[in-house]
Amino acid sequence: IKTMSLVEKDQKNVWHHISPYVEEKPAMIAVKGEGAWLTDYDGNKYLDAMSGLWCVNIGYGREELAKAAYEQMKELCYMPMTQSHVPAIELAEKINEWLEGDYMIFYSNSGSDANEVAFKLIRQYHQQNGEPNRYKFISRHRAYHGNSMGALSATGQALRKYKYEPLASGFLHVSPPDSYRRPENMTVEEFNIMRAEELEQKIIWEQKETIAGIIMEPLITGGGVLIPHPVYMEKVQEICQKYGVLLIIDEVICGFGRTGKKFGHQHFQIKPDVVTMAKGLTSAYLPLSVTAVKKEIFEKFKGSEENLHFRHINTFGGNPSACAVALKNLEIMEKENLVAKSAESGEFLLQSLQPLAKTHPNVGDIRGIGMIIGMELVASKQTKKPVSPDFIGKIIQNCKQEGLIVGKNGDTVDGFNNILTLSPPLSCTKEDLELIVSVLKKVLAENQYIM
Ligand code: PMP
Repeated sequence: IKTMSLVEKDQKNVWHHISPYVEEKPAMIAVKGEGAWLTDYDGNKYLDAMSGLWCVNIGYGREELAKAAYEQMKELCYMPMTQSHVPAIELAEKINEWLEGDYMIFYSNSGSDANEVAFKLIRQYHQQNGEPNRYKFISRHRAYHGNSMGALSATGQALRKYKYEPLASGFLHVSPPDSYRRPENMTVEEFNIMRAEELEQKIIWEQKETIAGIIMEPLITGGGVLIPHPVYMEKVQEICQKYGVLLIIDEVICGFGRTGKKFGHQHFQIKPDVVTMAKGLTSAYLPLSVTAVKKEIFEKFKGSEENLHFRHINTFGGNPSACAVALKNLEIMEKENLVAKSAESGEFLLQSLQPLAKTHPNVGDIRGIGMIIGMELVASKQTKKPVSPDFIGKIIQNCKQEGLIVGKNGDTVDGFNNILTLSPPLSCTKEDLELIVSVLKKVLAENQYIM
């Protein structure tokens, strides 16, 4: 009997996320991960400079995490969060320590889940606070907030949404502070102030008493690494306070050291009302997410009356092993100083790659914060017209042939897939970082965009 190859079985049975189905280009079948490195079924090794989907913060193959999951599973494998268990309690305390705040911790499984929880509980909060008309949420074009109907509605990437409409109502979008594409006569600071003022205008034009919340990442990550000037985030908070709008900060990617601070919003003078987190919380070893909610908001849900309860339950949310893994993950980050290391390693990458913006005709901009780097590829530095998706696809493919996995920005709108992204494990060695730089330099030197 002819046995099917693993590739054939994969193509016959496994529906991959987003990746196009092309028979001649089979998916990579990974079998092992160690540090920043992945090994595929044929024994090829790749340095994963995307940490999976921006999430394996402490690197692959950490036995301590496997042990934490195993030990917890033996002891108590399951307990719904209608009640409680020890790892959930300890982790909630630890997260508050990292947040430097006083939040109630609501557990779910994914970043999308965490954002859905935020939307639902904020709508209910306003109702219980005597403002039932506050139901609208504002987010930014180019941002990604998840795949479920509410989180997708908050997402500002048209290509991810238009085939699935109609989406949830009450989600509005404003332009992000994309400083690279600001008008020539404006400074970065002036442009960022203008973008914040646009947000305020949106609130006013939409009838300010109808706005429930604003959701944003500390920087737009998957939508192209758009880093705000601090004045932008600080103004956003001011605007929220002025109009009674709650500020949700989506830390799904930026949290847990990714930007060189414990949380991305700690780069700014702001205190979000709600913080959502996932990915790096467990370094993606097990699914777990959190919606952290300020105590003042939680106060409105206290009491025995039925109508005060937040009616949201999630079977797997706060799974004991996932919480135990998260605790161990954070312990390792602290012990190995990975947050500070992220800042340092990110700076090294940025400084080493920065010359490309001068020497390469298609590198329009290189920007980064901690271990998130974006490299905007343009056909011409004058027009800033994006390179074609084929060109960026070729760069990614060539990097892979050299053993390096890099990413690109999400499907914003047609023709706007022109930002190469890096988000390596925070635990990368010096040699890993040097390899990322040398492969990128080599591949870019070999490729120039021809219009
Ligand atoms: N928010 C942000 C900023 C994200 O990048 C993502 C996932 N890439 C999500 C939310 C959704 O997370 P998940 O895929 O775990 O649902």
